[in-house]
Amino acid sequence: MQKTAFRSLLNDYKVIFLDSYGVVKNHRGLISGVPEVIEEIRRSGKPLRILTNDASRSAERQVEKFERQGLAGLKKEEIITSGMMAKMFLKNKITSGKIAYLGTTQAAAYIIEANLDPIPVGQVNEKNIDEITAMVFLDDEGFDWNFDINATVNLLRKRNIPAIVANSDKIYPVANNDVSIATGGIAQLVESILGREFIHFGKPDSQMFMYAFEQLQKVGKFKRKDILMVGDTLHTDILGGNKFGISTLLVLSGNTRKENYETLIQASGVIPDFVADSLVN
Ligand SMILES: [Mg+2]
Repeated sequence: MQKTAFRSLLNDYKVIFLDSYGVVKNHRGLISGVPEVIEEIRRSGKPLRILTNDASRSAERQVEKFERQGLAGLKKEEIITSGMMAKMFLKNKITSGKIAYLGTTQAAAYIIEANLDPIPVGQVNEKNIDEITAMVFLDDEGFDWNFDINATVNLLRKRNIPAIVANSDKIYPVANNDVSIATGGIAQLVESILGREFIHFGKPDSQMFMYAFEQLQKVGKFKRKDILMVGDTLHTDILGGNKFGISTLLVLSGNTRKENYETLIQASGVIPDFVADSLVN
């Protein structure tokens, strides 16, 4: 593990994978200087993919949001979300019925894209409960935490159906020192109450890396050693990248802080190949 700058690594890799939150943007919006770095990656002609644990909006809507925040020119093919992995699972495994979900209507697009019929879990009742064929945890917004989490627990107590976690992140930073509970945290609460393990999507699991790698083969012949994964979280981005066999750069602009990153690396045993302050410097 070596402290370095992202720019100094650019020549050594043919493909760049970036995490979104904590790398490209934070709670304030785009991280300053990032659009210029992305422009440099573009000029070098290297394929770029954003791999994000997010099921709050589709890849198209992600592109629009990046654009509103000041990062133009991303293509939807360049964005790979954990929601897309959950969508593919639903498409392959669930063929009928209604899919109960926690999240916003925008997030429910993933269920519709899987050609299935979404229903907010708060609307599940005695009359329609037998029609529900799966439960999906999509986002931490768009519902009443008290009513809808109770409804989720009750649905899963009454019906033995697959429960899918479309974003396994447990927390996300909302200010310099504060975090909010994310979808994966809500799912973990329900799992612990029911004594059941759900089906989880997102980094560090290899599906997103595998999907990005397979899609890359359409634009060129790339090997795993050609790829650099840049992320701010040890147990998702760095662990996932390491397990997939690609190089990893930990940036200290998000979840992992300058003050204690060395201790965290030592304690977790998750060792990035490189460390940098941010994508910018
Ligand atoms: Mg992140």
